[in-house]
Amino acid sequence: MGRLKRPVINPFVRMQCCMPLQVADALKDPRFENNPLVTGDPRIRFYAGMPLITEDGTGLGSLCVIDTKPRPELSASQLSILKHLADLVMARIMSLRERSFIDATTGLLNSERLANDVFLMQERTDYANVILVDVFVLSYVKDVVKALGFSFFNQLMVETTRRLQGFLPSGTHLYKASQTRFAVMIEDADGDLCESLSTGLLEALRDPILCDGIPIQTQAAVGLLPLHPGVADHSNWLRLAISASDYARSLSDNWAWFRLELDRAHQRSFALLGGIASALAADDQFRLEYQPKLSMVDGRLTGVEALLRWTHPELGRVGPAEFIPLAEKTALVHSLSLWVMEEALRQISDWRSQGLELTVSINISAGDLESPVFVERLQQAMQRLDVAPQWLELEFTESVLIRNPGVVNKQLMRLRDIGVKVAIDDFGTGYSNWSYLRQIDASGLKLDKSFVDGLQANTADRHMAQTIIELAHKLGFRVIAEGVETQEDYDLLASWGCDEVQGYLIAKPMPPESLFNWLAQRPELTAN
Ligand code: C2E
Ligand code: CA
Ligand code: CA
Repeated sequence: MGRLKRPVINPFVRMQCCMPLQVADALKDPRFENNPLVTGDPRIRFYAGMPLITEDGTGLGSLCVIDTKPRPELSASQLSILKHLADLVMARIMSLRERSFIDATTGLLNSERLANDVFLMQERTDYANVILVDVFVLSYVKDVVKALGFSFFNQLMVETTRRLQGFLPSGTHLYKASQTRFAVMIEDADGDLCESLSTGLLEALRDPILCDGIPIQTQAAVGLLPLHPGVADHSNWLRLAISASDYARSLSDNWAWFRLELDRAHQRSFALLGGIASALAADDQFRLEYQPKLSMVDGRLTGVEALLRWTHPELGRVGPAEFIPLAEKTALVHSLSLWVMEEALRQISDWRSQGLELTVSINISAGDLESPVFVERLQQAMQRLDVAPQWLELEFTESVLIRNPGVVNKQLMRLRDIGVKVAIDDFGTGYSNWSYLRQIDASGLKLDKSFVDGLQANTADRHMAQTIIELAHKLGFRVIAEGVETQEDYDLLASWGCDEVQGYLIAKPMPPESLFNWLAQRPELTAN
C-alpha cells in the first residue's frame, strides 16, 4: 500500500497552476514550438486547458480543448463553460475516489485511505502514532465463518465498529485496516494519550458483542506504533503495528508498544524461511550430526539419532529447534524431511561399506505422514541405496497421532509392513493414547527430557518417569531416556529398568567422521 501517486501529465498541463492556460498557436509560442506534441503527432496548434486539482492541492491533469489549427483565445463565456465542465469532472473524480476509500462492510475509511493518511500525518507532525486494534485471531474467524457464514461475520464487524466508535472521542477517525483489524491515528508526543485510548478501546470490547442474538467474545489486542522520526523504519508501518498487536495478545493486559526486537525476530524468521530452499540446493549448508544411544542392560550401542544442523551463509549456525518449527508452518518441511531421509540413508550405506552397521533414527514432522508421498519416497530411496528397512527408525511426536488420524494411521501401518521402526519422541508431554500406540506398534518411547531434567529435584517428575517406564514395559515398549547428563540420573533410570539412554553423559551429537572415530576407540560398544 502506498500513497497516491502523482500522475505524469503533458507539458501543457505542467505549465499551468490554478489558472486556465491558453495557447493560440503553439508553433509561435517559444514555450511549445519544439514540443514533440506540436512538431509531431497530434501536431497541436491550439490549446485551452482548465486544471483539475484535488481539494488537497494535487494536480491530476487538465480538461482541455485542442485543435490542429491555430485559433483565437476563448471568450470569457467559453472559458466559464470550460471551468464549469472541469468542476463537474473533478466532482465525479472525487466521488469515485472517496468510494474507493471506504470499507464496504463497515462504512469506515479503508486500509488504502489509512496508508494515505498515515503518510500525510507523518508529513504534518513528528508525533504521529498508529493504534492498531486486532479484534479476532484468524483461526477463530475461519471457525465463525464456517459455522455461521460470512454475513454473520460481516454483521459482527459492523457491531464491533459500533462499539469502538461509541468509545472514541468525536473527531477521531476509525479505520478498517484489515479483515480483523481497526486503526486510529493519534498525535501524541509522550504516548500517554495513546495508552489511555488503548486501554479504553480494550475496555469497550470487554463485554461480549451481541450479534444476531449470539454473544461473541472478542479476543482484542492493541498494538501501538509511534511514527516519530528515527524510532523505526516506517515504510512497513502496518507490519510493525501488527507485530506489536500480536505480541500484545500474549500479555495479560493485551496492549503493547512496538519494540524493535519484535521486528528483528520477525525479520530473522523471514530470513530463515527464505533461506531454506537455497540451503537445500547448496551442498554446504545442511548436514546431519549423529548422537549415540546405548543399551542400559549391556552398555552396547543400539543406534544413533540423526540431528539436522544448518550453517546459514549470513546468520551462521542456526539450531533445528529454531528453524524446524518455522518450516513446519510451510510446505518446506516436506523437502527438509526428504533431504534428511536421503542423507541418513546415504550415510547408513556409507558406513556399511566401511564395515559399520548402525540403526539410524531420523526425526520427521507431523505433516510428513499426512500424505503417502513421504513413505513412497522412503521406499524408493531405500531400494536405490540398497538399505534394508531394519536400519532405519522414524521418530515423531505424539502430536502426529491426533492430526488427521485416518491418513496417518494408514501411513504408519505401511511403515510397519515394510519393516521400518517407529518411535514416539518427547513422550509424556502431549496427548498419550496408549491403546493407539499399541495399534501402531511403536518400537520405543522416548521419555521426554523435561522428566529427566527434574529427576533429582522434583518428586512429581520422578514418579511420572518411573510410572511411564513401568506402564510402557507392561505394554511391551522399549523406553529410551533422552537428555541424560549426569551419572545420578543414569543410575536412577537404570534402577527403574529403563532400556536405553541417550545424552551428553554418553556423547554429544557429532559429525559422521567423528562418530566413526568415537566408535573405533570403543570397540566394546559394537563387538559381536
Ligand atoms: P529431539 O528430537 O528431542 O532431539 C534431542 C535434542 O536434545 C537435540 O537437540 C539434542 O542435541 C539435544 N540433546 C541430546 N542430549 C542432550 C543432553 O544431554 N542435554 C541437552 N541439554 N540436550 C541434549 P537439537 O539437535 O538442537 O534438536 C532439537 C530438536 O529439533 C529435536 O529434538 C527435534 O525435535 C528437532 N530436529 C532435529 N533434527 C531434526 C530433523 O532432521 N527433522 C525434524 N523434523 N526435526 C529435527
Ligand atoms: Ca528425536
Ligand atoms: Ca525428544
